[in-house]
Amino acid sequence: MAVIIEPFRIKSVEPLTFTTRSERKEILKEARNNLFLVDADKVLIDLLTDSGTAAMSSRQWAGIMNGDESYAGSKSFYRFKEVAERITGYRHIIPTHQGRAAEKIIFTILGGKGKSFVSNTFFDTTRANVEYSGAEALDFLTPEGKIPHLIAPFKGNMDTEALEAYILKRGAENIPMCVMTITNNSGGGQPVSLGNLRETAAICRKYGIRFFIDACRFAENAWFIKTREEGYKDKTVEEIAREIFALADGCTMSAKKDALVNIGGFLAMNDEALALAARNLLIITEGFPTYGGLAGRDLEAMAQGLEEVLEEDYLRYRIRSIEYMGEKLTAAGVPMILPTGGHAVYLDAKAFLPQIPPAELPGVALANALYIEGGIRGVEIGSLMFGKKDEQGNHVAPPMELVRLAIPRRVYTQSHIDYVCEMIIEVFRKRDQLRGYRITFETPLLRHFTAHLEAL
Ligand SMILES: *Cc1c(COP(=O)(O)O)cnc(C)c1O
Repeated sequence: MAVIIEPFRIKSVEPLTFTTRSERKEILKEARNNLFLVDADKVLIDLLTDSGTAAMSSRQWAGIMNGDESYAGSKSFYRFKEVAERITGYRHIIPTHQGRAAEKIIFTILGGKGKSFVSNTFFDTTRANVEYSGAEALDFLTPEGKIPHLIAPFKGNMDTEALEAYILKRGAENIPMCVMTITNNSGGGQPVSLGNLRETAAICRKYGIRFFIDACRFAENAWFIKTREEGYKDKTVEEIAREIFALADGCTMSAKKDALVNIGGFLAMNDEALALAARNLLIITEGFPTYGGLAGRDLEAMAQGLEEVLEEDYLRYRIRSIEYMGEKLTAAGVPMILPTGGHAVYLDAKAFLPQIPPAELPGVALANALYIEGGIRGVEIGSLMFGKKDEQGNHVAPPMELVRLAIPRRVYTQSHIDYVCEMIIEVFRKRDQLRGYRITFETPLLRHFTAHLEAL
């Protein structure tokens, strides 16, 4: 099956702005060759992130009008709570304005100096919140997940042997929590199997360590389990999701991903005392427990989005459209992380542009070429984002040089994706002509957001 039929029709449209190649060259130059500094209305197809960029459904918009803006005990909260409880099974559902607000609360309570938190792979904001508390964050990704071109069904899995060895060495009393990120965002949106979730949960139970799910893309992960793991093809995605959550003690969630909204999140758990502490912090930093940092209308949209994301027609289309993009590019010889994950295609800039050394930012060269060629915005995940300097000031490159093309949910059609593929293939054909970049201005932290670059 090659043709993807979007499982929706379009009721409201937002025009795209077209620019010419010479205009884009000028725009990029003015933005100091940094795509983060390009205004969004100068981008034709924006694949910078899948976070908060989803198109809401007519039912979600109806929910926006129905939002109950009462300060306490709003009916929108009870609707949201009912849906989140049904899917996760957790007793305490605490809304927050986005994922990192949930993280800030839980790691403020459980973190601190001398503690260690473990994960398959911590997402950046999760790691930052752990470290900000004074604790350390350690990843135990399965070795399969570290080989970009290796085809395997669950490259997001935890390396359970390494995890258990670490627990024994460090002492379980120093490890307040183990976090499973599904899908594994930093690893290319690769899924985690239920078998691996079960094994990890058993290890946590054996040593008395709390087990939480970073659930941002739980529905996409459940779909991969249904289609790839033995014994799940006849279960519904919702049943699989419930089975995942039942293995853990709680979750953090960014609703900007798999709840199909533009803002929102939540924290959920079974532990009464922990929930009480979390609500206390919530009141100080986010708001009253029946709205978190959100408006009543946001809670309505989130409740509706959580129901829609579990519809199998939606998930089949979602995962298939990313797989389709991967197949089309692979057929043209374009190097990328395989298999494609749930929310993005990751081009391998090192293999794409072997003539550009990591110090000259091949990921930036590729991302900028895609913008000039087709007005497409992706994001470099490589030497600009993660590069370090040694004592002599020499560039120390991260293991991979990637360009992530994240696909917003329900926003672009197959013809948009076909166009993106054509532009990538066109850049691939002309790859020998591309040159690297040099940094002319940078900040000490998170330099990729604001750096100024000069073409070599
Ligand atoms: C986006 C994301 C977060 C943080 O959520 P925000 O809503 O952006 O604060 C945490 N974990 C993962 C895996 C994510 O993708």
